[in-house]
Amino acid sequence: MAAAHLTRHFPEVDLLHIFDPAIPPIGVGEGTTPGFRIWLDEIAPVEFESLQRQCLATRKCGVQFENWGSVKPVFRHDFVPPAANGLHISASRVIPFLQGYVRAELVTGHVTEVVSSDSGAEVRMAGGSSASADLVVDARGFPPLLTDDHLRLSWVPTNSALVTRCPQPRESPWTRAVARPHGWIFVIPLTDSTAYGYIHGGEHASTGEIEADFHEFLASEQVESFAEPRAIRYPNFVCRRPFDGRVFRIGNAASFVEPLEASSLAVVRIQLELVEFWLRRYPLMALGRLEQHVVSTLNDRIRDLILELSLFIGWHYASGSIYDTPFWRSARARFRQGLLELVPKEIGTRLVEQLQHASRLPLERIRAIRSAADLDRLVAQFQEFPRPFGGISPIGFAQLREGLSDAVEAE
Ligand SMILES: Cc1cc2nc3c(=O)[nH]c(=O)nc-3n(C[C@H](O)[C@H](O)[C@H](O)COP(=O)(O)OP(=O)(O)OC[C@H]3O[C@@H](n4cnc5c(N)ncnc54)[C@H](O)[C@@H]3O)c2cc1C
Repeated sequence: MAAAHLTRHFPEVDLLHIFDPAIPPIGVGEGTTPGFRIWLDEIAPVEFESLQRQCLATRKCGVQFENWGSVKPVFRHDFVPPAANGLHISASRVIPFLQGYVRAELVTGHVTEVVSSDSGAEVRMAGGSSASADLVVDARGFPPLLTDDHLRLSWVPTNSALVTRCPQPRESPWTRAVARPHGWIFVIPLTDSTAYGYIHGGEHASTGEIEADFHEFLASEQVESFAEPRAIRYPNFVCRRPFDGRVFRIGNAASFVEPLEASSLAVVRIQLELVEFWLRRYPLMALGRLEQHVVSTLNDRIRDLILELSLFIGWHYASGSIYDTPFWRSARARFRQGLLELVPKEIGTRLVEQLQHASRLPLERIRAIRSAADLDRLVAQFQEFPRPFGGISPIGFAQLREGLSDAVEAE
């Protein structure tokens, strides 16, 4: 995404695209939001039918929550207006697709270190070769270890996934997020197959128990054949300083919040817009002379976005599910501790305000929105419509409040 974005917006710069073909991309990340679709239309403008063919894409209207909270067995977080849909897209196909929109010198190599200085950055590779650049976008995926440079988002209660794919396509315009005793399961429809993933907390049940519950779910969905599930562990974190003035970490290298609302690629888009803004505002030559507080402002903005997003995700867990199990009890306690003790007070306060505001937005009005003009009319009628929290508008909060209780306001 970064290479394609820079190709599109800075055709005049010399771009070096370095990657290690021995390290596969993570291979998950198939649910997206309308922001990703808008980005894709700008970078790689092709018809939906072509995306279907090349990237196995299906249209996504939002996320359907099943068995979350205690108010309604099924409720949805729909994209509004409905025309602004997202996509389900093959994680392995979208990479070669985007590669067609990258104009860069391709270098294969294993990056061992990226060192920045006032005059630029040096990318060192195994075998002794290196490359210098004015700006480096570091998208090497999850950091091997979390250190003091990372802020842990301990109130997000999951850290592991079991993922599989079944060759039967299941047509659905929603990603399904189905609560289970030890976490939740995503169901993502592509044109040729369906992706399933059991997202869980690792420590509350044995691997055997989680596998058994996953199999039980798949059997209940009449999924007869599926690939051997692959286990993935992930940290929920944000880099304290994703950008140092020369090196901009993005994607899983910079932050991660579990995939309940499929927000990662939307965050990448925001990060790329910040890179772009930065390059337009500050010519490359001037980068080294910038005051550090300018860099810090940008880092604070990214950190706050991820803190908000992590609280938004935590809120989903705060009202529990139909299961009263160690996982769900611990998830609620962790959210409570995060909100009351760990997250900066002003961010917690903004979450409460956002929920209070959402409670005043009538759902029937939201459901009646058909166009961007309808949406504008609604926003205009509700004075002091707050800015998005974690990238989520008050409309999203209002829809989710239908199924998630007022657990946060009660705190
Ligand atoms: C279970 C799960 C489900 C998810 N679902 C969603 C979802 O539905 N929607 C969503 O938006 N996101 C989702 N995500 C997040 C998803 O991981 C990200 O959206 C995105 O795919 C991450 O891409 P990345 O490029 O940052 O990292 P990666 O895919 O890990 O890519 C890293 C790249 O860097 C290269 N590389 C690594 N180290 C080196 C090195 N030393 N030298 C040179 N090259 C190197 C590798 O070759 C690789 O290509 C999910 C994540 C998980 C764990």
